[in-house]
Amino acid sequence: MSLQVIGPKIRGFICTNAHPTGCLKNVQSQIDLAKKDIESTENTPNILVIGASTGYGLASRIALTWGYGANTIGVFFERPPSGNKTGSTGYYNSAAFHQMAAQDKFTAISINGDAFSDQIKQKTIDQIQEHFGQIDLVVYSLASPRRIHPKTGVDHRSVLKPVGDPCIGKTIDLTNENVTDITIDPATNEEIADTIAVMGGEDLSFWVELLLSEDLLAPRANIVAYSYIGPQITDQIYSSGTIGLAKADLEQRINAIDTRLLDQINGRAYLSVNKAVVSQASAAIPIVPLYISILYQIMDAKNLNEEPIDQMIRLFSEYLGPDLVPMVDENRRIRMDDRELRSDVVAEVNEKWSLVNNDNFHELADFEGYKKSFRNLFGFEIDDVDYGQPVETEVTIPLV
Ligand code: NAD
Repeated sequence: MSLQVIGPKIRGFICTNAHPTGCLKNVQSQIDLAKKDIESTENTPNILVIGASTGYGLASRIALTWGYGANTIGVFFERPPSGNKTGSTGYYNSAAFHQMAAQDKFTAISINGDAFSDQIKQKTIDQIQEHFGQIDLVVYSLASPRRIHPKTGVDHRSVLKPVGDPCIGKTIDLTNENVTDITIDPATNEEIADTIAVMGGEDLSFWVELLLSEDLLAPRANIVAYSYIGPQITDQIYSSGTIGLAKADLEQRINAIDTRLLDQINGRAYLSVNKAVVSQASAAIPIVPLYISILYQIMDAKNLNEEPIDQMIRLFSEYLGPDLVPMVDENRRIRMDDRELRSDVVAEVNEKWSLVNNDNFHELADFEGYKKSFRNLFGFEIDDVDYGQPVETEVTIPLV
């Protein structure tokens, strides 16, 4: 038992602790949005979510559980509490997810460990065989700064850099809250290859090979992986940068997997291009937090903004739910970023982007909103939580 009063420990784009009650409230409010009357339990889908504890993966797990009654197996890599150190936010989110799934009698299995490793893959396979039989949908939502390659043992570290030419842009320094010009030097060939090794599609290919070889994908099963494209403003650092090349590799693999699935099980594999949201992963990308602060202000004013849970409810109700054939663009991508890239939104973002500087960013961007959303991710500044009260940090998850 460890009762503590917990305040945020934030350094730049990193928060090193989390508040269990705040995380529970976050999960609860996502459930409230996702909850639907589920008509029949006859065709309950079995779903594997890889990267299931925060951001888009957690939102997918919640939308599928409370929207469709899905049985889920979630894989994530989170820090449990230890002594006077709190657990990570994904750890507390997952504890809350299990508590509420149990209350509502949903089947949920969680595995905490490195999804890139053969050992965790095998553990997942064993659990699917024991409890689920076959999987109807795989959601691939990993965002990681490193990957120890399971075959070579090489420790690949991803970088967020432009490719070819230096990237010149504006950014907000999250440590001192100054808007400054930055120049980011281009990545070396080795850095590009490392980023593709971490955030590209090889790992998903390994998962699919294993699932197919063990006959664990149900007839007509779907696979969906998440990506981002974004506007011109973030192009050099994102789409045309190292991460963009990794996402291009992911897309290529998705298309190869699609051919394989069609042939073997009449299944399909899709890339869903999601909108920019405040997350642990996006906070680490230069330029992006300032872009999101401007974007949110504009999308909020137009009543168009969506958080991960809104996006995932829409993804599964309009594109990838039971018996749906998703509408895709000319590149066979699902476009959940349609509202972010609407011409009026892009035009207004561009206008503000051209004007924003250190003196006016509080008017031209919702930076206070960004900071609050970032703190909310870790369970801080959530309404109705009394942060003066000590809370139990030694929360447990029924992990297998
Ligand atoms: P996130 O940081 O909130 O979540 C990452 C998840 O991956 C967590 O569950 C974490 O535990 C898990 N994870 C990381 N390393 C792992 C490992 N080695 N083994 C097992 N689990 C591991 O990220 P996010 O922002 O929700 O991004 C998820 C996906 O969505 C990514 O592919 C990202 O590119 C994509 N996406 C994000 C945004 C955005 O704005 N955040 C926009 C569009 C698409």
